[in-house]
Amino acid sequence: MDTVRLRKLLSHQQNILSKIALGTPLNDILNDICLSIEEIIDDESTKCSILSLKGKQLFHCAAPNIDYKYCQLINGVNIGPNVGSCGTAAYRKSRIIVENIETSPLWKDFKKIALDFGFKSCWSTPIISTQSTVLGTFAIYHSSPKVPSTRELELIDYFVHFSSIALEKDIDSCKVKQLIVDLQQSNEKFKAFTKVMPDLALILSEDGEYTDIYGSPDELLYNSLNALINKNVSDVLPKKEAQSIMAVIKKTLATNDIQVFEYQLEVQKGKVTFEGRTAPIDHYQPSNPSQRHVVWMARDITTRKNAEKEVERLAFFDPLTNLPNRRMLNERLAMCVERIKRSHKAGALLFLDLDNFKRINDSLGHSAGDELLVELSKRLSRVIRSSDTLARVGGDEFIVLLEYVGEDNEQANIEAKIVAQKLLSVFQEKFEVEGLAFQVSCSIGICLVDNRHSVTNNILKFADTAMYRSKMKGGNGYSFYDPELQTLLEKQAELETDIVRAIACDEFCAYFQPQISAQGAVIGAEALIRWNHPNKGLIAPNEFISIAEQYGLIQKLQNIVLRDICILIEQLSAGNIMDEFFSVSINISQCQFNSSTLKTELLNTMNNFNIQPSQIKLEITESMLSADIDNTIQQIEELKEIGFIFSIDDFGTGYSCLTHLSAFPVNELKIDKSFIDKVLDGGKGGSIVQTIISLAKSLNISVVAEGVEASEQFDILKTMHIDSIQGYFIAKPMIQSDYVKWHKNNVARCGLIHLAILK
Ligand code: C2E
Ligand code: CA
Ligand code: CA
Repeated sequence: MDTVRLRKLLSHQQNILSKIALGTPLNDILNDICLSIEEIIDDESTKCSILSLKGKQLFHCAAPNIDYKYCQLINGVNIGPNVGSCGTAAYRKSRIIVENIETSPLWKDFKKIALDFGFKSCWSTPIISTQSTVLGTFAIYHSSPKVPSTRELELIDYFVHFSSIALEKDIDSCKVKQLIVDLQQSNEKFKAFTKVMPDLALILSEDGEYTDIYGSPDELLYNSLNALINKNVSDVLPKKEAQSIMAVIKKTLATNDIQVFEYQLEVQKGKVTFEGRTAPIDHYQPSNPSQRHVVWMARDITTRKNAEKEVERLAFFDPLTNLPNRRMLNERLAMCVERIKRSHKAGALLFLDLDNFKRINDSLGHSAGDELLVELSKRLSRVIRSSDTLARVGGDEFIVLLEYVGEDNEQANIEAKIVAQKLLSVFQEKFEVEGLAFQVSCSIGICLVDNRHSVTNNILKFADTAMYRSKMKGGNGYSFYDPELQTLLEKQAELETDIVRAIACDEFCAYFQPQISAQGAVIGAEALIRWNHPNKGLIAPNEFISIAEQYGLIQKLQNIVLRDICILIEQLSAGNIMDEFFSVSINISQCQFNSSTLKTELLNTMNNFNIQPSQIKLEITESMLSADIDNTIQQIEELKEIGFIFSIDDFGTGYSCLTHLSAFPVNELKIDKSFIDKVLDGGKGGSIVQTIISLAKSLNISVVAEGVEASEQFDILKTMHIDSIQGYFIAKPMIQSDYVKWHKNNVARCGLIHLAILK
């Protein structure tokens, strides 16, 4: 190469390299390269173009002296084994020298275009990157068939090299530009995201420095954002809080894993419960790549936590008194039992039930009752230790669980007794409710929690039984659990279930025992209930009446008896063997007599039959009359008004009745069997009966003697002017069909009994 050319080459080289270094647009550089080689190659017709490869297609990037239309026609050509010089060179990754386009098989499909633009030869060199990928092609055209000289090839390689640098650099800078765009985009997304995020996102360095804080309003921060950024948690937060935050950071980085935890912090908004999540981040700060960080997400879960607490409170605490409820007590008792099993010490469970709460509730209403319970729970809480549990387990039922009362049972008994006395003492002072003062008392049942009693359900049951015993003793006291009482109560409960079953199975019926006048006329009968038990046979009322009364079943039994009475009366009147004065007695229990529904219950059953109230005699006992005289009189008057007849049963066994007899508007009294038994003794028995009869007569009340077993008894009673008698002497109680037979046999046309003994 001559010096002129060499100088030219060097100056072009300098120009191109400095343009590359300065970041001049790629097109300018490539154009310069084309122009440089065109100038240096010693042929006026030399035309250079540089094409870049995009995917599998070639496009012109620089062709300063080639017709634009030609470039357009070639642009987008797919590379392949026979696609002109450039398409083939890029495909084969090797230089393709086509001396004569017209004859070259490679140009078969394109020669027309090339020839049209005056191109006869084309030498194409692939531009290969440092990673050995094809970036494009470098083409030299001439207007006549031609092959390059070695010098020309060297020159081409030289400029191909520059083109490769320029193209590669351009690709890199494009990549960087794209990266920056991507980064900016993701940054924008992150900003938008953190703006709407209710959570707080903190970046903390491994040393505890607030590096970045995103999202969430200031109110969740301990301090204003500016006061925190670049500060260390240890300098900002109280010592304890800072320490626990540092511990989380340490754990996150040590485990390299996400940590989820809850914590509380007094922030600008107030005391907040957070759910924290941390994850490690490496290389967060490019300036300090070895420094590690954690991302710390903090979510305010105060509302949720409060709701959870409320749910728990409702589940385990009584809303009225805020005391633990039965569920909580059961849990504590179970834990207590477990501890006692291990320690061999003793605890105690005290069951408290108010004696007269129902009365207050009924008379003053529930809100007054509630007020009293709240006051009581406060008083009781004051007398127990904080380690003990006071629970409200029912309307007016409280339980005190004493976790530890002694090393052995004896000590435990004494301690439990002392606590019971303390609990009773809170009732000494009256309770003030709605401005009124009430004296309230309670019954306490105590069951020790020890190795004998270690089944929670039993402990509760036993304490309940003991409480019941206190009630039976009149209330306002305490009792310890007694297994015998337990057995009795269990039997009663069994009996109750059996009664319910028996009612459903129609096992109850009324028996009838006749009553006759002193003259021998059949004047009535008493209905007496019987239970035809499938296994136990016939059961007398004394064995089940009191249980039926306690468990609220008596009304059902009564309805059965009344139904049987109605059936009997209908049958007798149908047979025309009953006069208008004939009546059947039914025994009325205290609880029924007190109930406001007695009248409706009686009439409801009778409505199904053609029966008059005057055919029914209601037997009430003497003791029922002593309770509330005014109410009793009113109740009797009301029922008498509709026609019912009243008789006082078991007369003489009560206390006050003789003196008050005149006050009660009854029709009849039945002298109790215990007096009739003594009527022949010649002692006091006879004179009492005589007094009763005389008194009753003076009040215009007729008298029946019950339990008359012998003719001598009847005889003497007749001399005392008894009105009528009832007893085995006449007949035992009979089933209905037998009674009807007896009745038929013994009622003559004149209505007098045909008994041989009476003659
Ligand atoms: P009560 O009303 O005093 O009934 C009289 C009891 O004396 C009946 O016993 C009867 O069978 C029995 N008796 C009658 N005459 C004689 C006699 O000459 N000698 C002896 N030793 N006993 C005689 P019962 O049927 O076992 O009834 C017992 C108690 O059960 C009744 O006493 C009554 O208080 C109650 N009772 C019976 N039926 C009913 C009922 O339907 N409802 C209610 N609430 N109580 C009833
Ligand atoms: Ca009776
Ligand atoms: Ca009686």
